[in-house]
Amino acid sequence: MPTYSNRLMGLTGGGDDGWGLFYRARALKDAGEPVLELTIGEHDTRTAPDILDAMDASARGGHTGYAAVPGTRSLRDAVAKRLSSFSELTYGPENILITPGGQSGLFAAHSLACDPGDTALLIDPYYATYPGTIRGVGAVPKPVATHPEDGFQPREADLMAASLGAKSLLINTPNNPTGAVYSDATLEGIARVAGARDLWVISDEVYDSQIWEGTHRPFASLPDMFERTLTVGSLSKSHAMTGSRLGWVAGPAGAVAQMINLATHTTYGVPGFIQDAGCYALSLGVEAEAAVAAPFLRRRNMVLERLAQQQASNSLQIRAIPPSGAMYVMLDIRATGLSGNDFGEALLEEERVAVMPGESFGVAAAGHIRVALTLPDEVFATALDRLFAFAARQMDGRCAATA
Ligand code: PMP
Repeated sequence: MPTYSNRLMGLTGGGDDGWGLFYRARALKDAGEPVLELTIGEHDTRTAPDILDAMDASARGGHTGYAAVPGTRSLRDAVAKRLSSFSELTYGPENILITPGGQSGLFAAHSLACDPGDTALLIDPYYATYPGTIRGVGAVPKPVATHPEDGFQPREADLMAASLGAKSLLINTPNNPTGAVYSDATLEGIARVAGARDLWVISDEVYDSQIWEGTHRPFASLPDMFERTLTVGSLSKSHAMTGSRLGWVAGPAGAVAQMINLATHTTYGVPGFIQDAGCYALSLGVEAEAAVAAPFLRRRNMVLERLAQQQASNSLQIRAIPPSGAMYVMLDIRATGLSGNDFGEALLEEERVAVMPGESFGVAAAGHIRVALTLPDEVFATALDRLFAFAARQMDGRCAATA
């Protein structure tokens, strides 16, 4: 029998990486159990009806044939305008490739940057697909750990030490899973490393509309960084369009031309009616993006306030790393004595609340859980009550055991 390629067989690096818990929660839910899911980054609202109207009108108007592979001119213009609005940089359509979601943009960017066997750096904790995306182009993922005590901002010295001989560095700000928004000092440190080591920087900015503290500074806008930066973006998070699979990768025109060539031989573009809907969505401006983001800020604050109350009224010692952006809160549960995996498993079992164990995002997030801010406020409050009650029981058990 013909065999499967080593590249695909090695894509996930073995093990369930904590995703087993996610699938168990889904299976329970499918079997009719009332599981409260705080797992993946998906809005509790759906794509706005007027965006769907635009999609419908485009499809009925005939935009159902092959669309231009790099993206329609109007969407590339709209994305270029949005990117130009963040900084002094001026983007044109030649700097944009429209992709089926940011995920496909990450693959295109690594395909451009890395040859098989090349070292591709990523920051740990990381979005769960990153290592597999890197392995998918035949490169070797090399995580660089960050630390809760630094708010998960990468240290320049660690990056410099890890990057000798590397080809690329994948960064993500605002960050999934930590909620970190990289400071100017962090970004400038990364820029020095990228210059010194001649790296491609692949900057995943899909959460650029979800900033709770500070401002979003695109990595490409740092001095001398545009020519070595491939910026990945998406309408998934900003416009609740996860299922439309609409994203982009932006960069120097020469690099984009090569990634268009890749798209011609892989995706062959994105449906025209989806792109027209995206164009309409972007025409709604930043107010529409702020409206989609607002519930996550509200729920982020709910977590922080309720946690503070709980800490004041009993001995609850789990801590939040207050997120500066994105739709998640990381909780440090090391005081319970449990791993993120064990905490998550027992929480699902006892309280029917599903979270992601930190371990699914790399070794640097061990002893943490990631709570997605993705249930309507009232249900979210119930889930938090159950989570904190569960954590308090673990603390009590621990105190009793050591008394
Ligand atoms: N990057 C990060 C950090 C993400 O969290 C996600 C989705 N959860 C993506 C990229 C991919 O998003 P999409 O393909 O839906 O644009």
